[in-house]
Amino acid sequence: MIRAAALLLGLMAATPAAADFVLSNLRFTLYHEVGHAVIDQMRVPLFGSGETAADGFGLMVADRLHSETEMREIITDMTRLGRTEAAREIFDPWSEYMPGAQRMSRAICLWFGLKPTERGDHARALGMPPQEEWACIENARALRSAWTPILDDLRPDGTGGVSLRVAATGKALRLLAPDIARLNKEIALPRPTPVTIENCGEDNAYYYQYDDRIVICAELVTGLRRDALR
Ligand SMILES: [Zn+2]
Repeated sequence: MIRAAALLLGLMAATPAAADFVLSNLRFTLYHEVGHAVIDQMRVPLFGSGETAADGFGLMVADRLHSETEMREIITDMTRLGRTEAAREIFDPWSEYMPGAQRMSRAICLWFGLKPTERGDHARALGMPPQEEWACIENARALRSAWTPILDDLRPDGTGGVSLRVAATGKALRLLAPDIARLNKEIALPRPTPVTIENCGEDNAYYYQYDDRIVICAELVTGLRRDALR
């Protein structure tokens, strides 16, 4: 029974919509963790939570790497995941993360504000109230002015060196490899930063400051495949 269910899960996860959902959320997870790497390696001063800053960086850098169609898929799939997670999370006032539903609202707000003339209809379809538009545009303007000088400093020198390196095998990293290659054309981190997949014992991803390593947990990939079917 378990084997039959697993087979069914595997087949369904291979459907295009489910595969897109997994890829979109893996992409944003990667960009968020790269945000932690940039904050650490560039010693970026923060005036708030590192998690909120990493989310903002993730959206900024995604916007530089992806077409408008891909960005729309990313925010749509992130929203679906965020709302699925929010439905099962227990509010913890001491968590360094915003509550999941609020984190998603902030992401939609900033995604909209980065290109307001093109994204209003879809942002409203994702639930953004019209009265929030002005604040979202202002928030995105502040986000852009905070990160642009840092992204400019990170621009590769053209010698072809890469700082982010796929350092494990597996389908998730094969899916992300083209995005990692694109990231290496956009930014050069001060230190080599391997990206690996590991069993962590929880559905999460990490940037480890002590050895400059990005880890995407195998449990996160499994969780995304499961949530893709909800
Ligand atoms: Zn984080």
